[in-house]
Amino acid sequence: MRINCPHCQSKATVTHREKLSPRASNVYINCNNHKCGARSVIRISHAYTITPPAETMTAAMHEWFANLPEQEQIAKTYQPALF
Ligand SMILES: [Zn+2]
Repeated sequence: MRINCPHCQSKATVTHREKLSPRASNVYINCNNHKCGARSVIRISHAYTITPPAETMTAAMHEWFANLPEQEQIAKTYQPALF
């Protein structure tokens, strides 16, 4: 992940990170542009999930199969590894 200086848009170097919570951090950066030289703090936080963790997907799939009407449980015959 590249972070740019918010003042001059040049590439910046991360010096350290301060964890605020499991989903948010302050990232301390130094601008690499010697004419700027700004030091800044960038806040990075989790916005939303695009694909849930695999464990969550597997659990949801098992629950979905378990709740299928009886006539649809033919999937159990063809996908026994899922049950
Ligand atoms: Zn800069």
